[in-house]
Amino acid sequence: MTIAVTGATGQLGNFVVKHLLEKIPANQVVAVVRNTEKAVSLASLGVDIRYGNYMDPASLVKAFNGVSKLLLISSPDAFDETLRMVQHANAIRAAKNANVEHIHYTGTAFAEDATFDPALLHLATEYAIRASRLAYTFLRNTLYTEGIISPNLVKSIDSGVIITNTGNGKINSVTRNDLALAHATVLTQAGHENKTYNLVSNQSWTFDELAEILSDLSNKKIVHNTGSFEEARDYLIRAGLTESRASGRASVYNQVAAGEWAKKSDDLRMLIGKETPLKETIKQVLNM
Ligand code: NAP
Repeated sequence: MTIAVTGATGQLGNFVVKHLLEKIPANQVVAVVRNTEKAVSLASLGVDIRYGNYMDPASLVKAFNGVSKLLLISSPDAFDETLRMVQHANAIRAAKNANVEHIHYTGTAFAEDATFDPALLHLATEYAIRASRLAYTFLRNTLYTEGIISPNLVKSIDSGVIITNTGNGKINSVTRNDLALAHATVLTQAGHENKTYNLVSNQSWTFDELAEILSDLSNKKIVHNTGSFEEARDYLIRAGLTESRASGRASVYNQVAAGEWAKKSDDLRMLIGKETPLKETIKQVLNM
């Protein structure tokens, strides 16, 4: 059985490859990358590095040759959902043409009810995979914990305040590493054909709790103030995000306030049996 992972030089893909190597021999793992120069450390692990660009269908067919299970990691080209859809469709068609048996796709949790901007792209991709009639598994990820906390940490330790528009909303985020372990688990087990998993944490947290943990770790009082969309966006810009990313993040905060990122599922626990606590993730992000 050969398992291929796209986006293998990315943060999630890299973790998936490393977890796969704990479960199956390296000669059964294919890392599909668009820049082979970035894959030197992956190559040193013994995995088969193959060039595959979502914009180049022929390269994908070649990269997927002899692969039985494919993990299609969603494209990162934010703000252009049509382009991302084309990229995903290229990968799905290439998988079909290369006789891949089973596609796994990283979507977004509870996509049908989500107002999160990329949710429709993820649903459209899932339907395109179903239309291919290949076996599928939808690995619907929640927000990455590192992604949602990182712009706030250093800034808030400096200023003593975190400003969001999340209210008391809870966040069911998960680290990339835990999600990657769930993906590698599913990829190396039988019995996940045509299943959908919502990979969220049942230990959701609030920004008040984040501020408490930061106060504890930094020995400095840090408070969470919940304000307007504009106040949160401007804070994120001061923390270093571009205006469009800061607006995108403040939109996610609105969804948090509305309870959209507080939904629960036992899928992640069932697959990996544990979760990295928020405090541990903060320490890792801050290198403490
Ligand atoms: P990442 O670190 O940006 O990795 C993205 C990967 O996609 C990289 O390996 C990149 O290659 C590759 N890629 C980009 N364009 C490509 C193309 N045209 N053809 C082939 N490969 C291409 O992202 P991540 O953190 O691992 O996250 C994985 C995905 O999750 C993202 O792509 C995005 O769809 C989604 N996402 C989820 C969240 C969340 O909170 N759940 C947040 C952000 C994004 P290079 O290394 O050559 O750039």
